[in-house]
Amino acid sequence: MYHRKDTVPVKVGNLTIGGSNEVIIQSMCTTKTADVAATVAEIHRLEEAGCQLVRVTVNTKEAAAAIKEIKRQISIPLVADIHFDYRLALAAIENGIDKVRINPGNIGRREKVEAVVKACKERGIPIRIGVNAGSLENHLLEKYGYPTADAMVESALYHIGILESLDFRDIIVSLKASDVPMAIEAYTKAAQRFNYPLHLGITESGTLFAGSVKSAAGLGVLLHMGIGSTIRVSLSADPVEEVKVCRELLKTFGLISNAATLVSCPTCGRLDIDLFSIANEVEEYISKLKVPIKVSVLGCAVNGPGEAREADIGIAGARGEGLLFRYGEMIRKVPEAELVSELKKEIDAIVEAYNRT
Ligand code: SF4
Repeated sequence: MYHRKDTVPVKVGNLTIGGSNEVIIQSMCTTKTADVAATVAEIHRLEEAGCQLVRVTVNTKEAAAAIKEIKRQISIPLVADIHFDYRLALAAIENGIDKVRINPGNIGRREKVEAVVKACKERGIPIRIGVNAGSLENHLLEKYGYPTADAMVESALYHIGILESLDFRDIIVSLKASDVPMAIEAYTKAAQRFNYPLHLGITESGTLFAGSVKSAAGLGVLLHMGIGSTIRVSLSADPVEEVKVCRELLKTFGLISNAATLVSCPTCGRLDIDLFSIANEVEEYISKLKVPIKVSVLGCAVNGPGEAREADIGIAGARGEGLLFRYGEMIRKVPEAELVSELKKEIDAIVEAYNRT
C-alpha cells in the first residue's frame, strides 16, 4: 500500500509536511481571528498541548489584518482558512501567513487564481486544497448524483490540475467527509493517484466522546495503512481536546516520538486501590510531557507487577499500598496515600535524566 514516505515534502513555516517527516498535529482556533488577544491565548494553549500547526478563519479584512500581530506573538506556523475571496488570501499572504487553505477552482477568474499562486510562490507558501464531501462542485454532483469517494478524488484532481497548470506544486490535500467509510475510501484512492501530502480529517465528527471515537476509527485505519502526513481531529469541543486525541492516535500507531504513554487496567473485583482517580491524575500529569516514556498504573498484584515491569515506571496496587516498579525492577512499597506523589517524583527523575542525555 501507498506510504506517507512517498509523498513530496512540503515546507510550512519551520515545519515540513510529508516525506519521511513525522505526522504533524494541527487544530483550528475557535476565536474570532480579529480578536488578537483571544486568538493568541488559544494558540498558546494549543501549542502547550502539542499542536504543531494552527489554522484560523480569514473571513474578513479585519481577520486578514490581524495575522501580522498574531504571527508576532506565536511560534508555531499559522494557516489561513479562506473560502472564495482571493483578496483575503492576498492580504493573509502579505501579512505573513505560513500556509493558505483555499480551493483554486472556487476563486473565480483565472487572473485571480494566478495572483494568489504568484504571491504564494514568491514567499514559498503552500496551498492546501480542502475537498469536502458536503461542498463538492456542481458538475461533480451532476455526474455522480451525490457525494462519493470518486467524486471527492476527482474534485481534488480538478483543483490540483489548476495549480499544476501554473507550475505550482507546494500542495497539500484533504478529502474530508463525516461519513467514515467514504472518507477512508477517498483518502485511499487519492493516495493511489497522487503523491502530495495528505491532511487527514473526519469532518463534523461530533462531540468530544462520539467525535473522538469516529475520528479514531477513520484516521486509525488510514494511519495504519501508512496514509496521512498531517492530522486534525474536528470536535464540537475545546480544540485542546482535538490535539489530545491526535496525540493519543499517533501514540497508538507509534507515529510520535515525544509523547508519554499511560497503560492502565480496566479494574476488576481484585482491585485494591482507587485506580480510576490515580489513572486520571497520572494521565493529566504526563499529558504535556514531551518525552517518550511509558507509565503503567495497574490495580492489583495479580497481573499488575508483570505489566508494570514492561513500563519505564509503574505501580501495581496492593491492599492499602502500591508496589513501585522502575525499568522492570520493584523499587519499593508505598502507602496508597503517597502513591501518586511518589510516582510523579519518579516520572520527573526519568524526564530529567532523558533531557540530560
Ligand atoms: Fe483486575 Fe488486577 Fe488486572 Fe486490574 S491488574 S484488571 S485489578 S486483575
